[in-house]
Amino acid sequence: MQRLTRIADLRQWLAHARSQGKTIALVPTMGALHTGHMALVENARRHCDLVVMSVFVNPRQFGPNEDFDAYPRDLDADCALAQAHGVDAVFAPSTEEMYPHAAGPLIIAGRQANMLCGASRPGHFDGVLQVVCKLFNLVQPDRAFFGQKDAQQVAIIQTFVRDYNLPLEICVIPVVREDDGLAKSSRNVYLNAEERAHAPAIHAALQLCRERLQAGFGPDAALHAARAHIAGIPDSRIDYLELLAWPDLLALGDDESSCIALAAVYVGRTRLIDNITFQR
Ligand code: AMP
Repeated sequence: MQRLTRIADLRQWLAHARSQGKTIALVPTMGALHTGHMALVENARRHCDLVVMSVFVNPRQFGPNEDFDAYPRDLDADCALAQAHGVDAVFAPSTEEMYPHAAGPLIIAGRQANMLCGASRPGHFDGVLQVVCKLFNLVQPDRAFFGQKDAQQVAIIQTFVRDYNLPLEICVIPVVREDDGLAKSSRNVYLNAEERAHAPAIHAALQLCRERLQAGFGPDAALHAARAHIAGIPDSRIDYLELLAWPDLLALGDDESSCIALAAVYVGRTRLIDNITFQR
């Protein structure tokens, strides 16, 4: 497996691969890899000849009081896991390599970014689109793989790719969970034992929301039941809990059949996100 930190080396490696007619998959990550990321890699390997994984903790998607400095980083462990799962090249650039100019043209993510995670993390999705756009331009993949775990990110990236006619296919992989339902996340390492024990209640609450809606209750009643369930998590605070149409993230109409229930919940100091999609 190639371990690349320089854009020039990445380009050289890709030129060689393309000259052999290989198709290229891109799996963008911030590292601290777990089996959720590996599900993306396994799908990428099935669909393309070569898999490039980026490992870059992107400062532009973190707010001033967020966990950019504390975010878990272990590039050697990430590379070992990536290699064991058949990644062909890890691209792990420095911040200076990715952003050599402090003030340049920016990308603004638009309507879908002003709600949910974007409401409590202003500018987050602008930063996501900026790094994703750079990675798409650098790697020029045939397909890029993203996790449904970050549903709003998926919706925003799909809108971006469609509206700006980017020549690649976005592939979305279902949420990978622990046995007790907790969505796998690099941030789960922040949870202490008690918080970890209670955290699966977020997924359970989303399922409860779905069950109520499918049983004929209205969205407000379904959300009320989910909110009450999350309230049982000690030292927790709901950032948002919503039921929307999927994938456009608009208010749920009476005849809407494709739905998403999403939540962001602080468990202690750790902010966890999760979602489930379903037919009404
Ligand atoms: P991150 O390193 O958190 O930026 O995640 C990199 C990619 O892995 C994103 O597309 C995430 O949506 C995806 N991902 C992270 N956790 C999971 C999970 N539990 N299941 C599926 N995909 C995931």
